Amino acid sequence: MRQDFNYHTHTWRCGHASGSDEEYIQMAIKAGFRILGFADHGPYRQYSNPYSHMEWSQIDEYVASLSALREKYADQISILIGFETEYYRHMHNEKAQLKQKAQYLILGQHYDSPQCAVSYFRPNSEEEILEYGRLVCEGLESGLFTYLCHPDLVMYHQESFTPACRKAAHMIGAKAAETGIPLEVNVHRIAKGKLEYEEGLRYPYPNREFWEILASYPVRCLFGVDAHSPAQLLDTGAMDEAFREIQDLNLDFISEPLF
Ligand SMILES: [Zn+2]
Ligand SMILES: [Zn+2]
Repeated sequence: MRQDFNYHTHTWRCGHASGSDEEYIQMAIKAGFRILGFADHGPYRQYSNPYSHMEWSQIDEYVASLSALREKYADQISILIGFETEYYRHMHNEKAQLKQKAQYLILGQHYDSPQCAVSYFRPNSEEEILEYGRLVCEGLESGLFTYLCHPDLVMYHQESFTPACRKAAHMIGAKAAETGIPLEVNVHRIAKGKLEYEEGLRYPYPNREFWEILASYPVRCLFGVDAHSPAQLLDTGAMDEAFREIQDLNLDFISEPLF
């Protein structure tokens, strides 16, 4: 399984990714990508988090840097400029403004609020897992997002597949089917290997049980490298392994680029 477009690439600006913008592009060309979309963790007007997302004041420099590189490499690869960001109630206008600065937004729901009170890559209560599902569904309904990253992110630190995990997966599968918004099979965590949980060794995501439920709905899917270093774009083994995790679920993978 190989896909020659990737809309999920980070940059140094989020504070937890390495490499220059140009190195990501050169690596993507080497790896045979036709389209490389940057979707670094988008900023908030009122909230700073130097290890989580860029600053609002960095938007212009981010767009300028990638726009210049888009020109430079135009005959070798198509460069797209976007942001990965969360959906929060009462922040629709700010997200719409962020979208206007770029070509697309992808939804990555890492926290419950811009203050990051609850992180979804920590162990979560049943109510927190349900809130994750609700926020993701409202994000899908918002009309702001091109696709949903790692829909199963909330499984990162879940020791077992609880009733709330099941419910959240059903909510997200149903909403993705209703809205037609594609779901991402995320490759990023594969290269770091499996972790030990009460139920045994598994990757934090893609999570098999979560995807079994998503696959019971007529959803469209795509892979996202979620590259936090240029080398991850060249790791075709990780993409193959992510596919092996879910290949028997007969998911409907997008064969043509989204744009
Ligand atoms: Zn990140
Ligand atoms: Zn990401």
